Amino acid sequence: MLLINGRRVDDIAAELGTPFYAYDASVIRGRVASLRQALPERIALHFAMKANPMPAVVHELAALVDGIDIASGGELEVALQTPCPRHEMSFAGPGKSRDEIAAAIRAGIVLNAESTLEIERAGEIAMSLGLPAHIAIRVNPDFELKNSGMRMSGGPKQFGIDAELVPEVLKNLAEPCEFHGFHIFTGSQNLNAESIVTSQQKSFELAMELAAYAPKAPRFVNLGGGFGIPYFPGDTRLDLAPIGECLADLDQQLLTRYPDCQIVIELGRYLVGECGVYVCEVRDVKPSRGHTFAITDGGLHHHLSASGNFGQIIRKNYPVTLANKLDRTADQQISVVGPLCTPLDLLGDKVTVPNPEVGDLVAVMQSGAYGFTASPHLFLSHPAPKEIFCDG
Ligand SMILES: *Cc1c(COP(=O)(O)O)cnc(C)c1O
Repeated sequence: MLLINGRRVDDIAAELGTPFYAYDASVIRGRVASLRQALPERIALHFAMKANPMPAVVHELAALVDGIDIASGGELEVALQTPCPRHEMSFAGPGKSRDEIAAAIRAGIVLNAESTLEIERAGEIAMSLGLPAHIAIRVNPDFELKNSGMRMSGGPKQFGIDAELVPEVLKNLAEPCEFHGFHIFTGSQNLNAESIVTSQQKSFELAMELAAYAPKAPRFVNLGGGFGIPYFPGDTRLDLAPIGECLADLDQQLLTRYPDCQIVIELGRYLVGECGVYVCEVRDVKPSRGHTFAITDGGLHHHLSASGNFGQIIRKNYPVTLANKLDRTADQQISVVGPLCTPLDLLGDKVTVPNPEVGDLVAVMQSGAYGFTASPHLFLSHPAPKEIFCDG
């Protein structure tokens, strides 16, 4: 039987009903500890909470990391319930509403400005509230991160202010807008340390060039994240050692120029992706023309990422097992599907598992990031999955 931080998955199923997401606090703690080990001490580690905004998860991480990066007013409300210092919270994302900007200014958190209009708006709103607007400039660099699952920079983008426009923006930055630093996020789900290192070096250089135009020394340079986790056969774990070395070198350069400035790394998937499992129950086992389908009570509407419809170009299977049959030989090739009326509702395509039976618990591993909240729960009007944080 699969255990989540010591709890039997069948016990959780009996308590909550299926399907559910379960998150293991000890995995999160281990992940942060190994990152701290690999990265220089002065590097600030932030959690990008859109990867898993479950309040219990955010609380756990708030106690372990140095800051929280949020991407909406809703996330801000959750983050504000944690003891995370306000000046270590930053709010990124294009098209922030006036209400979101006002909430951020009232809370005293940093706005990562995505456009010049957003800075103007923040200035107006801050003026009317009689408060400062803490601004970091999100830069859209003129280079791309290679080997990345999702490209977030280079060329024309809705994210960030084009690097070539930033000097002018910085010159015009005036009260009530206060300058805090730069944010350069170049991509996601990268397993290639070398390309992350290159991107960090280029981002750092760009930030240093732009800092010359700033009204004051930056308090932080956020180099993004992009650290990937292994999902598929052949994926190899990201090697943190070269990234640690690179950051140590950049940090030394930073100390000579801006001794009070800190490098920030913001991670979502890397911190929470491997702590989570999605569990659903087999309702029917159906042979069809020589192939076997395990039909479950879970699917794409709960776990869009595992169905391959969230950021994958070629569909690949997440690791899938039968949680109650870990000791059996995996010798059957089957497909694991859900109850939706679409062939896209596929959790495992020709996966090898032990003989499936009605009542078995299917576990989709590596499900702690971009799972529950990245899925269209309302599609076909089935109940939403449950979530449990196993704190041990
Ligand atoms: C989504 C996002 C992240 C987190 O990305 P991961 O790949 O989950 O680490 C970090 N920063 C920003 C600005 C984001 O939009």
